[in-house]
Amino acid sequence: MPTAKHIPIRQCVACRARRPKAELLRIVLGQDGPQIDPTGRKPGRGAYVCPDKPECWNEKKLRRFAGAKAPELAQALQVLLAHLPQPGQSQSSKSSHT
Ligand SMILES: [Zn+2]
Repeated sequence: MPTAKHIPIRQCVACRARRPKAELLRIVLGQDGPQIDPTGRKPGRGAYVCPDKPECWNEKKLRRFAGAKAPELAQALQVLLAHLPQPGQSQSSKSSHT
């Protein structure tokens, strides 16, 4: 029987998908502008985006959260996330034989 652990669910501000918090990346709108907050501990107005969906880093979608700072945030996300290894891309686990 799977134990029903409490998993915090957050909503992506861009695509509105609801996902476990651990699967999302926190972004914060601070005084110095939008920041990416991988630790989830920065103060400020926070939101979440999908780190694995480039369409969620679109400035138009981020505008809802970041307003005029959306282009800045979109760029920061692209710079950061484009260099991260995408889960599931590197390891090609095809049909598991044996
Ligand atoms: Zn999303």
